[in-house]
Amino acid sequence: MFHIAVLPGDGIGPEITREAVKVLKAVGEKRQLELGFSHHLIGGASIDAQGVALSDDLVDTCRRSDAILFGAVGGPKWDHLDLPDRADYALIRLRQELSAYANLRQFRLYAGLEDASAVKNDIVETGIDFIILRELSSGAYYGRPKFREDTPRGRRAVDTIEYYDYQVERLARHGFELARQRRARLTSMSKWNALESSRLWRDVVEEVAQEYPDVDTRHEIVDAGAMNLIQRPAEYDVIIMPNMFGDILGDEAAVLAGSIGMVPSAEISLDGPSLYEPIHGSANDIEDRNVANPIGTILSAALLLRYSLGCPDGAGDIERAVGKVIAEGYRTADIWTSGDQQRVSTTEMGDLVVEML
Ligand code: NAD
Repeated sequence: MFHIAVLPGDGIGPEITREAVKVLKAVGEKRQLELGFSHHLIGGASIDAQGVALSDDLVDTCRRSDAILFGAVGGPKWDHLDLPDRADYALIRLRQELSAYANLRQFRLYAGLEDASAVKNDIVETGIDFIILRELSSGAYYGRPKFREDTPRGRRAVDTIEYYDYQVERLARHGFELARQRRARLTSMSKWNALESSRLWRDVVEEVAQEYPDVDTRHEIVDAGAMNLIQRPAEYDVIIMPNMFGDILGDEAAVLAGSIGMVPSAEISLDGPSLYEPIHGSANDIEDRNVANPIGTILSAALLLRYSLGCPDGAGDIERAVGKVIAEGYRTADIWTSGDQQRVSTTEMGDLVVEML
């Protein structure tokens, strides 16, 4: 029996996780997987009920689970609070408690969604199916020293980009293993022409690459990579990046996928359960209207099956079912582009995916 901790959170979080759980239950039946679910409050919902955004009990429950399915946290009601009381801080702290060291985002443009993508049809039609694996534990956001000071020359601010070889190595190894399960191509993006930390990054990736001669390894300077990613997205399979570059390019790449509501992600833990969530936030502007796109969360559930429960077949079932629903012309509002497509609600989209399964 696998135990999945479900944390719906705020805004559209409860609506979209409900659909993903529905789909997971259907796959569980089809693939004879025993799945147990427990639902817990987090973020603003938890502040309202028990005064804290993330309770210690919930951290324990998450640690004891096999995987975590997360919706989104935050909203205008709580965004004015100061850290660490803010609703969205719950996710930041939970990532730290679980020792998340990598963030994985899977970008795929499903056939039929070309018009929803912000990029020209002749580019996206070449096929978009890649993963960005971002280092999450170090880099520019955590390096020390980090401070501001007043000096005779004016106000000064310092951030530090820091990497140890072992941090790069474990991320690179993860990237190569992913590439082996996919199309065996790995692109490492960094800024080795200007940054010492990127020169170490490149050296370590090159060392690990020796163990994966079957994987086609490339190095790109991140600024050129940012352009290529939009101009020639079909060239990429697995892309690995330091923390800050992955943060930026991970959002850039979302425009390729048709909607922010289509992109699944995983926060991979060093020694505990991983957390799966759509990349968007709690979308309070469309909360409780049954119009949110649940596919990013449903596809996050597919990643959960593939990477945490060892069930790639179940993950493939979900991804194919989503592909069929899109191919047959069903669209939530965010990906609806023309009158010959059928506009469906959040719950109808979840039902359709279950039907296709
Ligand atoms: P957002 O991602 O919630 O929404 C941005 C825009 O995309 C909105 O117009 C929204 O309606 C739309 N959108 C997002 N997801 C959608 C979906 N599944 N279907 C259809 N449309 C969708 O970002 P925001 O508006 O800047 O933030 C809202 C709240 O979410 C804030 O409180 C923020 O702190 C929080 N937030 C949480 C997370 C998280 O929990 N991981 C991430 C980002 C933002």
